[in-house]
Amino acid sequence: MPELPEVETVRRRLAPVLEGRVFERVEITDPRLTRPLDPLEVAGELEGERVAVVDRRGKYLIVRFESGRALLVHLRMTGSFLHSANGLADDAHRRAVVRLDDGSDVAYRDVRRFGTWLLLEPEEVEAYVDERVGREPLAEAYRAKHLAEKLNGRRAPVKAAILDQRTVAGVGNIYADEALWRARIHPLTPAAALGPEEVKALYRGVRESLRAGIRRQGSTLRDYRLPNGEEGGAQHEFKVYGRGGEPCERCGTPIDKIRVAGRGTWYCPTCQRRPVAQAASSSSRRPARSSRHSSA
Ligand SMILES: [Zn+2]
Repeated sequence: MPELPEVETVRRRLAPVLEGRVFERVEITDPRLTRPLDPLEVAGELEGERVAVVDRRGKYLIVRFESGRALLVHLRMTGSFLHSANGLADDAHRRAVVRLDDGSDVAYRDVRRFGTWLLLEPEEVEAYVDERVGREPLAEAYRAKHLAEKLNGRRAPVKAAILDQRTVAGVGNIYADEALWRARIHPLTPAAALGPEEVKALYRGVRESLRAGIRRQGSTLRDYRLPNGEEGGAQHEFKVYGRGGEPCERCGTPIDKIRVAGRGTWYCPTCQRRPVAQAASSSSRRPARSSRHSSA
């Protein structure tokens, strides 16, 4: 499933193709893409719009038009774009085609059909996105304290917390595992139990794993493609994701797989120690606590 590095890679490739161009003809053949709105109606509204900039927030691709309107695209599981200057081959999974005013086509394909296209009016755009998506983890102004604020008081496992798009924008199952491995944090650790140093390590882990993904143009496990049809290469550099039984590159321990928040989760049992159970920690602290009480 495309996460921040994949969507950012698509954005970087689509920007030079789309910016300054007019959507001359738009064909949306799958009503699921625009529901509950009529695809014919949305296509009609899009025709004639000139692209100002191709933007991204979290996993949303945002095509901003000069009119101030924006087309919000979410690729979900299997959405991808293909740009072609010389026609399109048949594709049973194609859901939409945009003909640009330079004669080239941008096709949207989606095997599982969970992706969405949503056309928003100028005054709706920021509020819609802000409600669903937290801070951009790769933004210049993003700091560890912003992550700490979001994790504070949350009893959920840290992995579940960072999968929440309002905690950190754009992190999904792959980069959550990668970030936790880099930070040496067990995915089941309650978010609120992380100390300041661990939060800092997680902050760095999130940014490093996302940057590594972008450097290799995202990861292709199945359907993800760049807009020129190529595959990403980040999957060849995963530290833990999908690597069950392979040795941890830091310590050699075989990578283990568990389920957290219903998602397959890979981690190193040696580098990422499970937090000490409540009972054990309270019994080991008891003598110290009672001595403090008696001295007080
Ligand atoms: Zn290890």
